[in-house]
Amino acid sequence: DRPQPRRPEWLRVKAPVSAEYQETRALMRDLNLVTVCEEAACPNIGECWAQKHATMMILGSVCTRACAFCNVATGRPDLLDPHEPENVASAVAKLGLQHVVITSVDRDDLDDGGATHFAQTISAIRAASPNTTIEVLTPDFLRKDGALEIVAEARPDVFNHNMETVPRLYPTIRPGARYFHSLSILQKIKELDGSIFTKSGIMVGLGETDEEVGQIMDDLRTADVDFMTIGQYLQPTPKHAPLDRFVEPETFARYAKQGKAKGFLLMSSTPLTRSSYHADADFAALQNA
Ligand code: SF4
Ligand code: SF4
Repeated sequence: DRPQPRRPEWLRVKAPVSAEYQETRALMRDLNLVTVCEEAACPNIGECWAQKHATMMILGSVCTRACAFCNVATGRPDLLDPHEPENVASAVAKLGLQHVVITSVDRDDLDDGGATHFAQTISAIRAASPNTTIEVLTPDFLRKDGALEIVAEARPDVFNHNMETVPRLYPTIRPGARYFHSLSILQKIKELDGSIFTKSGIMVGLGETDEEVGQIMDDLRTADVDFMTIGQYLQPTPKHAPLDRFVEPETFARYAKQGKAKGFLLMSSTPLTRSSYHADADFAALQNA
C-alpha cells in the first residue's frame, strides 16, 4: 500500500466537539438510526451535525455491494427494521429539518431493492413533517423491475442517484454497477414524474481527466438531470481505491462554472462537497429564486 498523502490545508476540518453534535448523535442512537455521515466517515460531520443536519441511511448498515471508494461495510445484510420509516420520520421532526436527505445501502438481496421501504419512509416523513422537503439518494435498482415506479409514486422532491465516477473507471471503482443503467434511471424518474428534481454527483481524485468530467456533465444533461455535485475523493483506508490527485479549489470552481454553463440548475463543486452537503440551503435558494 502507498502511504496516504497529507491532506492539503483546504481539506482539513475541525474535530466534532459541539454540544449540538453530541445531541444529534444521541438522537440517532436513541432511535436506532444509521447515518451515512458516520458510516462513510464524512469529513463534514462536525459542521453538519452542529446544525443538526444528519443524513440517515435506511435498509441497514451492511451493503451487498463493495465499491472500491466506499467505507460502508459489505456482507450479509441486516433484516429490515419495520419501525425504521417511523423512526426516521420522528428524527426529522425532532431535528426540525426543512430539507432531509435519506440514503441507503444497496440491497441486491431484496426483490424490490428496498424501493418499498424508501416509499414508506417518504410517506412517514410527509405525514409527520408536511413542510419538510425530501431528497432521496438511492441505489441503482439494477435488475429490480418496478422499483423506480414505487419510489417515483411516493413523490420525493429530489431524486438523487450518484454516478460516482467516469465510465472508464467503473470496472475498478464501481464494479457492481453499470454506467448507462445509472444514467438511465435518472432519465426514467423524469419521465415518470417531471415535477421531481433529479440530481447526481461524482468524486474527483480517482484518476479521471478534466475532459472526462466535462463528458459526464454532458451525459447527465442529456438525461435531463437538474443538479450536480462534485467533491474530492478521500481514501477511507489503505485498502480502498488509491488517491490519484488532490484537485485544487480553483479547478472545482472551474467545474462549477462549466456545469452552470451546461444548464444545471444547481451545481455544487468544492473539495468538501458531498451529495448532502448544504443540500438544504441550496434547495431552499432554488425554490426562493
Ligand atoms: Fe452527513 Fe452529508 Fe454532512 Fe457529510 S455532508 S456530514 S454525509 S449531511
Ligand atoms: Fe457504498 Fe453504496 Fe457502493 Fe454500497 S453501493 S458499497 S453503500 S457506495
